[in-house]
Amino acid sequence: MIGTELLLGDVLDTNSQYLARELAYLGIDCLHRVTVGDNPQRIRECMSQALSRADILLTSGGLGPTADDLTTECVADLMGVPQITDREILAHIRELFAKRNFKMPVSNEKQALRPEGALTLPNPVGSAPGIIFVLSPEQYNPRGITGDGTKVIMTFPGVPSELKAMWAQTARAYLQEHYGGSSIWSCELKHFGIGESALAEKYAHLLDLQNPTVAPYAGRWECRLRVAAKAADQDAARLLAQPVIDEIKAGSGHTLYGYDDDTLESTVGRLLTERNMTLAVAESCTGGLVSERLTDIAGSSRYIKLNAVTYANEAKMKVLGVSAQTLETHGAVSAECAAEMARGMLDLADADVALSITGIAGPGGGTTQKPVGHVYLGLASRAADGSVVLAGKQLSLGDRLPRAEIRWRTANEALNMVRLHLLGAL
Ligand code: AMP
Ligand code: MG
Repeated sequence: MIGTELLLGDVLDTNSQYLARELAYLGIDCLHRVTVGDNPQRIRECMSQALSRADILLTSGGLGPTADDLTTECVADLMGVPQITDREILAHIRELFAKRNFKMPVSNEKQALRPEGALTLPNPVGSAPGIIFVLSPEQYNPRGITGDGTKVIMTFPGVPSELKAMWAQTARAYLQEHYGGSSIWSCELKHFGIGESALAEKYAHLLDLQNPTVAPYAGRWECRLRVAAKAADQDAARLLAQPVIDEIKAGSGHTLYGYDDDTLESTVGRLLTERNMTLAVAESCTGGLVSERLTDIAGSSRYIKLNAVTYANEAKMKVLGVSAQTLETHGAVSAECAAEMARGMLDLADADVALSITGIAGPGGGTTQKPVGHVYLGLASRAADGSVVLAGKQLSLGDRLPRAEIRWRTANEALNMVRLHLLGAL
């Protein structure tokens, strides 16, 4: 990974994670990962060391037109070959500028350079292509690099979308063909409402398996079990993993909320879509976070009817019809208020399910009876006979958490409550 911005911590190195996962998928062992700044000597040192200890060197960054983009030049220097201009690439870059009605700066000509003997790694979404440079021992041994088989250097730009496009279009297939080992298939089983240690205990007998392997990971608020299997190809690996996945599915019941990229909000969206139902949300202490998360999902307009942030008592009364007496007797942070909020929202939105949230996000506003982190959730829905069914839940999230964390956890619990309701498991 090449780029001073990465070392300074200004940019998070997401390319490493992406490539590491993709390599695992191909069954190629990733042995080392190094980050280096935009300094030619150190870049060459890194490259030389990497080639001495591995067969494949992937680099990201430093392919731009500016003076600190040094990757191609360093590869050429390291291998002692001149850089040549790829006329086709140059024409392509010129065309990109012409299309946007810009005059191409001279500095961009640099992006058409590649070390003599290297192939072009095409970039379908940006101006800078990378290289695929296949090296023989006769080429690299005299440069002080150890080994006796062919080695390959592949360079990618730092821009994640370009790196991914180049990987998907060319690099992945190239590496699979030349270096692909057995294939690793993996799946994450995402749990909510059970802790990492409880999960590890429950599946202790699976954690020692060799193939597939099962490993627990604790996220910020969810727990994941990663099941990974290794076989000749993806299908075979998946088949190996399947019985273990089935066992976890059966054992975890409703604490298993989804797989891989699923989130609580996407799961709620899927369940609502499957049931052809609509949802409305009345939020107080979460200030719209639940609404934001729900509407982040493409297609959520099919099932979200109305979301409102009813923060002041007046709004709770005017918009949702919460009674003044409830607010006076029990306060805005109460089970009674949450119930009236949900009920009011159900009618107002004419939705199938209405969720309400009221609580104390802190850091101020807590009392002995209702400390910070004290939250009430309400849920209103209609029974088959048209009558309204109410459910509620009280959360005590603790008064030590920062405001943002209390809101985040409350939103999780609220989304999970809707999920369980839709599953008939509340
Ligand atoms: P470069 O190809 O070095 O000109 O990088 C272009 C941009 O890509 C940089 O300004 C960063 O914002 C981004 N970038 C570079 N390296 C990485 C990386 N390893 N992970 C994610 N983004 C990166
Ligand atoms: Mg850079």
